[in-house]
Amino acid sequence: MMTIRFWGTRGSIASPGKSTVKYGGNTACVEVRAGNQILIFDAGTGIRDLGNLLLKEFKTKPATLHLFISHTHWDHIQGFPFFMPAYFKNFQINVYGPPARDKSLKDLFKFQMDSEYFPVPLGGLNAQITMQEIREPFRIGDVQITSFFMNHPAMTLAYKIFDGEKTFIYATDNEPYRYTLNAVRKHPMATQYGVELDQKFIDFISGADFVVCEAQYTLEEYRSKVGWGHSPVESIVEFAIKANVKRLALFHHDPSHNDAAIDAIVTHAQKLLSTQKSAVQCIGAAEGMTIHLG
Ligand SMILES: [Zn+2]
Repeated sequence: MMTIRFWGTRGSIASPGKSTVKYGGNTACVEVRAGNQILIFDAGTGIRDLGNLLLKEFKTKPATLHLFISHTHWDHIQGFPFFMPAYFKNFQINVYGPPARDKSLKDLFKFQMDSEYFPVPLGGLNAQITMQEIREPFRIGDVQITSFFMNHPAMTLAYKIFDGEKTFIYATDNEPYRYTLNAVRKHPMATQYGVELDQKFIDFISGADFVVCEAQYTLEEYRSKVGWGHSPVESIVEFAIKANVKRLALFHHDPSHNDAAIDAIVTHAQKLLSTQKSAVQCIGAAEGMTIHLG
């Protein structure tokens, strides 16, 4: 049994208010309980409420949490200083993230807690915290973890979790290569090469039981945002069909999209799937939503 819970589904910046109540205003954070392990994907503002619940669950009992960071843009790390388990010594927090470009994962976390930005330094937290930059597949107990590099203006990883029965994928902040390569290099082969690179992503998510995938824009909105590192929903639907995934959760909602706009994107995706007679089930990821697999 794998349980998935969305604590933050918004991309870019938190967007609370009456118009975002259905899908939520908190930035990226997804909790997965698999094979007795507690896995957390990203530390956007949604991780604050998750942390408060974990404190209630474990109190002073020892607990190990595994936090997977897709990349260190604000909407994926900004909640960490407000993640209360980090302040208590009974918690072991193992943080995993992409390999460094010029600053280590630990330094990037340290810098956002520098006294100019935040009152408590990373070194002032009482939990046992480890930081690991990952490249190779590895296991945590019965859970196998594989990662994949995304096309985004930062070192960014997607994660695949397999508990022996079900496959869960967290894949956010990704832009189809076919568009970016074509934009930077006006060569007849650029689009074709981009399509080949996109196929590697399709292979990575192939056959997965549940895929959390960003779909920040419609194709029309995307045209003025090429190179920002995000996807039009039309591409995500195409990838999901080609990969034959079972369930697709549209994620990383644009902060300018209210609930009605996201409803329209989800309906649009579902129509595209049904037009193509696809069996992929598509939902809009919503804060507070819990999914049981298996
Ligand atoms: Zn983001």
